[in-house]
Amino acid sequence: MMQPALDDAALLARLVAFETVSGRSNVALCRFIADYLERCGAVVEQLPGTGDDRLNLVARVGPSSADAARDGLVLCGHSDVVPADEPEWEGDPFTLREAGERLIGRGACDMKGFVALAVNRVARAAAAGSTLRRPLYLLLCCDEEIGSLGARVFARNAAQIALLPRNVLIGEPTAGRVVRMHKGHLKLALQVSGRAAHSGLPHLGVSAIDGATDVLLALRRAAAQLAGIRTDTSAFFPECPYPALNVGLIRGGAAVNVVPADCRIDVGVRLLPGQAAPLALEVIQAELAALPAELRQRVRVDVTNDNPPMLCPVDAEIHRALAAIVGQSDSLGVSFASDAGVLSEAGLSCVLWGPGEMDRAHRPNEYITRGELAAAGDVLDRLIRQFCF
Ligand SMILES: [Zn+2]
Repeated sequence: MMQPALDDAALLARLVAFETVSGRSNVALCRFIADYLERCGAVVEQLPGTGDDRLNLVARVGPSSADAARDGLVLCGHSDVVPADEPEWEGDPFTLREAGERLIGRGACDMKGFVALAVNRVARAAAAGSTLRRPLYLLLCCDEEIGSLGARVFARNAAQIALLPRNVLIGEPTAGRVVRMHKGHLKLALQVSGRAAHSGLPHLGVSAIDGATDVLLALRRAAAQLAGIRTDTSAFFPECPYPALNVGLIRGGAAVNVVPADCRIDVGVRLLPGQAAPLALEVIQAELAALPAELRQRVRVDVTNDNPPMLCPVDAEIHRALAAIVGQSDSLGVSFASDAGVLSEAGLSCVLWGPGEMDRAHRPNEYITRGELAAAGDVLDRLIRQFCF
C-alpha cells in the first residue's frame, strides 16, 4: 500500500482550496479524501448528508466489526467552513498562504487543519497494513456550522452508529485543551401575525410589528429568568454560567406605508449540559402566556434547530486518555456547540480537542501555525497508538 502523498501542511492547502462553505457542495472534497485514503488502503464510504451535493464520509482502517466493547477510535471533523466574505482578507481565502509560522486560509483553524492531520494519520495507519488491533475511523460531517445538520443525518442511522468505536475525538479548535462539556444551541422562530392595511387607515389593520414589541419584552423577561438559573455544570462556564437567550434577528413588514402583516423574531438559547429544549420553551411560553389573549393568539413558536449540549463523564476512557497525554488535570467547558451534541446523544463518547484557537476562527485571515499542527500531530499519534495498536 502507498504512503500518504502529502505532508500535513500540503494536505491542508489542498483541503482549503475546496470552497466548502456550509450549504454548498462538498462532493469534490469528499471525492478527493476518499481517493487519497483508498490509495493507502483505507475502506471509505461516502454517505448521504444534507442533500444531493453534501455528503458525510466514513473511513476505516483495521478490524471491521467493532468488538462488544466497541474499542478503537473515531477522529471526527466537519467538512464545511463559514463564508469568507469579509473585506479584511489579505489574499484569496481559499488559497492557503504562508506568513512566517502562520498558514492562513478559510478553515485553516476551524477545522481543516485537524482534518488534514486526521486524514494523514488514517492514511498512514492504512499503509502500515494489518498491524491495527482495534479500528481507527475518520468521520467527516457536512454542514456543522449551520446546526450540525450532517451529523444529525448520520446519527439518525442507528446501524451506522453501532459500527463505530464509542470513543470519539472531535477536532474543534480548543488550543490543545481537552473539552468535555459544551453548551447546546436551541434555535426558535417566533412568528407574529397581523393584518395588512394602508398606513393612512391603520384602524383597518393589525400591526404585527406592534405586537412583536410586546413579544420582545416578554423575551427579555424570559432571558432574565434563564440568566438566574445555575446547575452543577455552571462552574465550568465561568464567563456565562447560565443558559443565555439571544434575540438575534427580526424581520417584519413590507413597506413604510403599510401596516405590517408579519414579523418574525429569531431566538437562540445556549443551554447548559444537562438541560434540554423543554426548559427554555416553558420559560418562554410562560412569559408569552401573560400577554393579552388577542396577541397571544397571533404568536407561533417553532423550534427551527435543536443542537444539544455535550457532557462527557470525567472518567470516560477518551477523556482520561487524552487528558493524560496532554497533561491536563482540570475539566473544561466551552460555550460553542458542535457535532458532539448529536453524536453523544446517539450514544458515542465524545470530547473536543484540536489545534488552534476558536477566537481566530470565523474571522478574516484565519490561521493555524506550523507549530500547532506539529504538536497536535504528535498527540494524535500517541492517542492512536494507545487506542488502536
Ligand atoms: Zn468547527
